Amino acid sequence: MRGIALSGKVRFLDTTLRDGEQTPGVSLDMDEKLAIARGLDALGVQVIEAGSAITSEGERKSMKAVADSGLNAEICSFVRTLKSDVDLALQCDVDSVHLVVPVSDLHIERKLKSDRKTVFQNAIDVTEYAKDHGLVVELSGEDASRADLDFLTSIYRAGVEAGADRLCFCDTVGVLVPETTAAIFGKLSDLGAPISIHCHNDFGMATANTVAALRSGASQAHVTVNGIGERAGNASLEEVVMTLESLYKIKTGIRCEDLYQLSRMVSRMTGIPVAPNKSLVGENAFTHEAGIHVHGLLADTSTYEPLHPEQVGRKRRIVLGKHAGRASVELALKEFGISVTDDQLAQIVERVKELGDKGKRVSDADLQTIAEYVLSIQKEPKVRLQELTVVAGNTVTPTASVKLLLNGLEKLEAGTGVGPVDAAVNAVKRALCGVADVRLEEYHVDAITGGTSALVEVWVTMALADRKITARGAGADIIMASVEAVLEGINRLMQLEEEKKLA
Ligand code: MN
Repeated sequence: MRGIALSGKVRFLDTTLRDGEQTPGVSLDMDEKLAIARGLDALGVQVIEAGSAITSEGERKSMKAVADSGLNAEICSFVRTLKSDVDLALQCDVDSVHLVVPVSDLHIERKLKSDRKTVFQNAIDVTEYAKDHGLVVELSGEDASRADLDFLTSIYRAGVEAGADRLCFCDTVGVLVPETTAAIFGKLSDLGAPISIHCHNDFGMATANTVAALRSGASQAHVTVNGIGERAGNASLEEVVMTLESLYKIKTGIRCEDLYQLSRMVSRMTGIPVAPNKSLVGENAFTHEAGIHVHGLLADTSTYEPLHPEQVGRKRRIVLGKHAGRASVELALKEFGISVTDDQLAQIVERVKELGDKGKRVSDADLQTIAEYVLSIQKEPKVRLQELTVVAGNTVTPTASVKLLLNGLEKLEAGTGVGPVDAAVNAVKRALCGVADVRLEEYHVDAITGGTSALVEVWVTMALADRKITARGAGADIIMASVEAVLEGINRLMQLEEEKKLA
C-alpha cells in the first residue's frame, strides 16, 4: 500500500494557470490569474502552478503577483532543465518549480537532438541548482508513458538523491489506459519521494488514468478546472475530486460546494465555454426534461441523479420541452396550484411541445402563462388588426400606419423604424400607448422553407410590467407574421393583466 491508498490523503497541483493557459487562444491577464488563484486557494488545492516564468515579462509580473498575494497554497513555476529558467522562476518569488525533463527517446532524440546521458546530467544539475536556491523541486518526466521505465526510474532516483522533493509522471499525449497506469505505478515504488500523475485527455481517459494512478501509488494529481489544457485538455479538477469523493468515498479536503462557481469563473475568464453535457459543471448535468424521469425524481431524486447538485454548488433544474409528458406538465401545473380539465391539459401539453420543438426551454413563467392563456382562450381578443400599410425602400424612412380595434374602438397611429418590421411594431406600440405599455424583449425569425417565398415563423418575447410571455406568428409575409406575433402577445398579456385585477 502506497500513495493515497496508504495515507488516505490526496494532494492536488492545479495547473489551470499554466497547462490550462496553454489552451489554444487563451491568455489571462494579471487580475484574472490572481482571481483564479484565489479561487483555487479557497477551494483547498495544495499547489498552484501559476505559469511558466520563461514565457514573458507580463507572465512573470502576474506570477509574482500570485506568489506575493499571501495564499496558503504553494506557488509553482514550470521550468525546463536550464539554470536560466530557474533564475527567471526565482524572480517571480515562487515556492517551487515543476522541473520538466523529456524522458522518452522520441522526445530526447527528435525534439532535443540529444541523448539520454546528457538529459540525465542536466536533470540532476538543475535539480541541485534549484535546491541550492531554496526552491521546492517537483522533478517531472515528460512523455513518461512512452519512455523506457528503467531510464525513467534511474532519473527519479538520482533526482531524489540530488534533493528533489517530489516526482511526477506525465502522460503527455494521453495514451495511458487505467490498467497500464496501475501496472506502471505498481513498479514505481520505493523512489524515496512522493510521485504525482499528470494526464492529458486525448482519448477521454485523463480522469480514469489519474484516479488509477492515485489508487496505485501516486499521491498528488495534476488537474485543471474544466479540464482545459493543451489539445484535448488535462484531467479535470472537478471530475477527479468528485470521482474520489462520490465513487471511492475518499475525502479530498476540497471544498466541493465551490466547484461550480470556480468552473464558471474560469470559463468566463478564459473564454472557453463548458459543453452542456460536461460532467458535473455542464449546464445539463443536473437538468431533467423527459416526463418519466421527472416522475421518478419527484419520488426520489437518486432515481436519476448519482449525487446531489448541491454537493458541487449547483441546483437541480427541471425543464419542460418537447419530451414533456402529460404527467410532468400536470405535476408542474399542480406546483402552481393550477388545476385543468383533460381537454385543457391536452392543449397546454401541445403548446409546451410546440415551444420545445423550437428548441426552447419552457420555463416556469412560460408554463404559467401558457396555462393561463389556455384557460382564458375563449375570450374575445382585446386588440384586433384592421389595417396595416408599410412603406420601405432605399430613399424613404421605413414608415407604417396601423388601424387597430381596441375594445371595439378604432385607433389610428403611425410609426417609423430602422426597417419595415420595426416601423410596423412601433406603430402598434404607439397605438396602445397608455393602454398597454408592452415591451418587445426578444424577436426571432425562422424561414421554414427555402427561397424568398419561404414561410416564416416569428417568435417574440413580450413583457408587460413584470410578466413575460412568448408568442408566435407565421405566414409568407414577414411583416404580417411579426405584427401577428406581437398582437397575440399583447392580447395574452392584457387578458392576464385583467384577470389579475379581477382576482
Ligand atoms: Mn501537460
